[in-house]
Amino acid sequence: MSTLPAGEIDHIAIAVEDLDEACARYVQLLGARVGLREEVVAQGVEVAFLHLPGETKIELISPLDDSGAVARFLEKKGEGLHHVCMRVADIEEALESVIDAEIPHIDPQPRIGAGGARIAFLHPRALGGVLLEIKEVVS
Ligand code: ZN
Repeated sequence: MSTLPAGEIDHIAIAVEDLDEACARYVQLLGARVGLREEVVAQGVEVAFLHLPGETKIELISPLDDSGAVARFLEKKGEGLHHVCMRVADIEEALESVIDAEIPHIDPQPRIGAGGARIAFLHPRALGGVLLEIKEVVS
């Protein structure tokens, strides 16, 4: 049995400097529809979810100020892929397996993300430099 049985990709997230400009660009370029947009103050970011055909979503993520992880990401790397988010059925169970297997992670406990979703992040060291978000999907 695998440590973290793969679920569907919920979204990929792209860090951007200017959320309004980026939304307009993605709508123009891909014909995306802008869905949920909100400030996640605890993480110091504003996010917008763009809906593409099917279930595919792109999360655009922009810092609210100069502090915080996304601001540091932009300063260091510039705009680009920030994380990939995979769905899990039970986030506590998923985190328990991750911790038991000593997989590098950022959150030992779920936190509340955009839209009230229960999420957690694994460390990029776990997946070849890609930050992985896991998100509990309530069915
Ligand atoms: Zn995300």
